[in-house]
Amino acid sequence: MKAAKIIITIDGYSSCGKSTLARQLAQELDYTYIDTGAMYRAITLYFLRNQTNWTATEEVEEALRNIELEFVVNTRSGNREIHLNGENVEFLIRDLVVAEKVSEVAAIREVRTFAVAQQRKMGEAKGVVMDGRDIGTTVFPQAELKIFMTADNAIRVERRFKELFAKNPNITIEEVKANLEMRDYIDSHREVSPLRKADDAVILDNSDITPEEQLQLALTWARECSGDQ
Ligand code: C5P
Repeated sequence: MKAAKIIITIDGYSSCGKSTLARQLAQELDYTYIDTGAMYRAITLYFLRNQTNWTATEEVEEALRNIELEFVVNTRSGNREIHLNGENVEFLIRDLVVAEKVSEVAAIREVRTFAVAQQRKMGEAKGVVMDGRDIGTTVFPQAELKIFMTADNAIRVERRFKELFAKNPNITIEEVKANLEMRDYIDSHREVSPLRKADDAVILDNSDITPEEQLQLALTWARECSGDQ
């Protein structure tokens, strides 16, 4: 019997390794990976470029009407990369300038309504692994498998620092630590769909396990949940 396609959600704090696991799971299961953080980052980039005053609801609504987001497969890497109004911004959105503002922008109700509607559409046919902050609680509360990832703070800072330092050798570990703490705080204290573990999510703490061990664990859960055992 062929296993049924399911929806897998991965939520958690910044830099827990959600995207690494989500991408690997999608590859193993032949599912589509959807990086919802990239959508909030691309919206933030648009607001910064266009000097949108995001404290004014009408300006936000007007800006959102002019934003088109699309994930397009990069034929070289095979990864799906985010395009903002036809421009590949996958690299630009990882900059600290965007990271400094993204949680503020992602806390805006209109921005979330805009992004969540698209995320639901992308997942309606199932066979998706979607990572973010509110996927198991708000976007797909009915998902068959919900994973909530955690890792020690120091390990998270170290991981993100290494990643960002490779792109920008001027970055300091203090800047990275401050940014992660700020985003985690805003993400878990905002009014609209704050980051929290869904009651029926399984916790995956990857502080002391290898990426391979983590993948095998998640694959076991995915196979159980899709009836493929
Ligand atoms: O996952 P990533 O670190 O790229 O996400 C960037 C930011 O986007 C998060 O810090 C959070 O503010 C926001 N986000 C969100 N909801 C999601 C995904 C990301 O609020 N589902």
